[in-house]
Amino acid sequence: MKRLFLNYYLLIIVILVLARFVVMPLIESLGTAPFRQQFTHYYQELTKGPYYVVSQYLQQYPQNQWQQRLADLQPQFGYPLALVELTGAGLSVKDYHQLQEGRIVVGASYDTFWQRIGDSEQVLIMGPFPSPDVGSGVNIYLWGLIMVLLSVVVLLWVLPFWRKLKQISASAAAFGEGNFSVRAKVVRRSALAPLAEAFNRMADRIQQLINSQKQLTNAVSHELRTPLSRLRFGMEMLVKTRDDDNKERYVKGIYRDLDEMDKLVTELLTYARFEAKNFILRRKDVDLAPWLETTVQELAGEVEGKVWVECNLEQSSLLIDPDLLYRALSNLIHNGAKYGGGKVRVVLVKDDQHLYIHVDDDGPGITPEERSRIFEPFARLESSRSRETGGYGLGLAIVKQIASLHRGTVTVGESDLGGSRFSIVIPR
Ligand code: ADP
Repeated sequence: MKRLFLNYYLLIIVILVLARFVVMPLIESLGTAPFRQQFTHYYQELTKGPYYVVSQYLQQYPQNQWQQRLADLQPQFGYPLALVELTGAGLSVKDYHQLQEGRIVVGASYDTFWQRIGDSEQVLIMGPFPSPDVGSGVNIYLWGLIMVLLSVVVLLWVLPFWRKLKQISASAAAFGEGNFSVRAKVVRRSALAPLAEAFNRMADRIQQLINSQKQLTNAVSHELRTPLSRLRFGMEMLVKTRDDDNKERYVKGIYRDLDEMDKLVTELLTYARFEAKNFILRRKDVDLAPWLETTVQELAGEVEGKVWVECNLEQSSLLIDPDLLYRALSNLIHNGAKYGGGKVRVVLVKDDQHLYIHVDDDGPGITPEERSRIFEPFARLESSRSRETGGYGLGLAIVKQIASLHRGTVTVGESDLGGSRFSIVIPR
């Protein structure tokens, strides 16, 4: 608090001093420069009278008495009077010519004046005129008062700022100690509102990440436990059995469990790779209709049942990462074949803003209540939990990641084939 106060206070004092002693004189001198002629004329008019009177007075006497006569006059003037030789006046050539013409020369700071007396070689100097002296004492009191007032203003300004800063740093400290639900209070009109908002956004994101990380860890441990205990059981039986046929059966079981764990780890790594913030898409300009035709043909070979494409778009070029989109389609087509009744149809359509790739099947479909859940990692519906059909529940989570990497979405609804319709929607 002290440091904050002193920083602001000193800053304002420095600005004030600079304004008073540097900026103001600069403005004054630069500001009057264009009016030099008017100012000179004004002072010439002011001093014209005294010059006339003094010159007339001196010229009544012989020149050798002028110094003495001027000294007699001096007490009647509030500024110095002096006589010098025209050549010794120390003026510029321009001013010298002006003197010769009998005109009054005005000094740069408008407080000293020169004029030749009649046709003589003598120049009468008036000035410098004293400036009104306000007295340094008053100045010191005034400055003192300004400083005190300023300190009060700075204090009133800094106090709420400091309190808010303390609140935010207390929230950050609590968050650092593991209280992930703590948030900074955002006061809209405060200068620190953007900082509080940025902190809250960061806290939201970290909390979300920690939660999903926890869920993922729980799910992974859960998924690994089954094949692991089967592995342990298989190994124990393998050690105990003497029968060759049984041995072979147990070894096969062990390999199957190892394959299953391998598949889980591979899927998990893929999921984690897409989840990384810095994942870079390898985009290419692809004409989607022919690309979809070949992709679906390839994938159809991998699954049982009928898989076909319906598309009547002429030209549908789009910047996509074909490898990723292939992966998403593969997941959807495999699911369609796995959970459907034997038919999988891929439809490509577009409107003004989006391209839609629908994957339809004739299976049991997905109830509206379950639709939002199935895109979460490890989400599986009860009906598909059997070992034969169900995977790990990562396939649709990966499709969702791929769609959002393309700034798109994936949704599920009903298909006219009787089952579900999964739609990847990509902005054009
Ligand atoms: P899995 O590896 O279990 O197939 P997914 O993420 O691909 O994981 O799917 C999640 C769950 O959604 C599946 O377990 C299944 O219950 C359901 N599901 C996915 N596709 C379909 C479909 N075409 N028809 C019915 N249910 C489906």
